[in-house]
Amino acid sequence: MIETRGLTFRYGSDESGPPAVDDVSLTIRDGSFVVLAGPNGSGKSTLVRQFNGLLDPDAGSVSVNDQPVDENVVAARTAVAMTFQDPRDGFVAATVAADVAFGPENLGLARREIDERVAGALAAVRMDGRGDERIDRLSGGEQARVAIAGALAMGPDHLVLDEPFAGLDQPARQSVLSRLDALGDAGTGIVVVTHDLRDVLALADRVLVMNEGRVALDTDPERAREQLSGLAVRAPC
Ligand code: ADP
Ligand code: MG
Repeated sequence: MIETRGLTFRYGSDESGPPAVDDVSLTIRDGSFVVLAGPNGSGKSTLVRQFNGLLDPDAGSVSVNDQPVDENVVAARTAVAMTFQDPRDGFVAATVAADVAFGPENLGLARREIDERVAGALAAVRMDGRGDERIDRLSGGEQARVAIAGALAMGPDHLVLDEPFAGLDQPARQSVLSRLDALGDAGTGIVVVTHDLRDVLALADRVLVMNEGRVALDTDPERAREQLSGLAVRAPC
């Protein structure tokens, strides 16, 4: 479970403008599939980066599995694994398997356990048997799936994907969507950050829409479909 209370974040020391994330209180249950939508600049990335200590709040608190994130960042990063808008920002190794192994290696797991996790994570994104391939030779969709595998290899309770469809063509997008569908069915909690709701609403059981740093809408996919016409959720990046 991810819990935020009064979460507030400002970039820099300029207190004249509104904060990037402004007094957000949310509870994200284990196993839920949440779509976090909202226009470009509404604070989505800033919010989720506080779920596992990539950013520290200026006010308020975040806890993961009832433990404050700032008291145990390793536990938070293990429980809440994240992929970034450009998967290349997250890669640390030249080949697929080496990259996916990086997170578990940093947890200090035994080699056998690491190998099992890498194999399981690659199978989950349909990249099995391709561990020795170079990441820079993969298509955008394959890179997106490798990034997801790297997050999955942490054995997270929640997988947070920040704009996983950015730059993907329709077949690659469908491939990532069907992997997310399967992962959600297998019990992994998923948070998909996106300004583009095509197809992903069908997988969600909760929709959050941010606007100017606040959660403007917290609803189910059916109601979201009706209400979203008023909010610029498809604003281009
Ligand atoms: P979203 O992910 O919804 O597009 P962000 O969380 O990236 O929104 O941005 C929220 C606000 O914070 C925007 O006004 C954005 O310009 C600002 N912002 C984001 N990243 C930075 C940064 N590194 N430095 C300063 N301001 C930033
Ligand atoms: Mg963003």
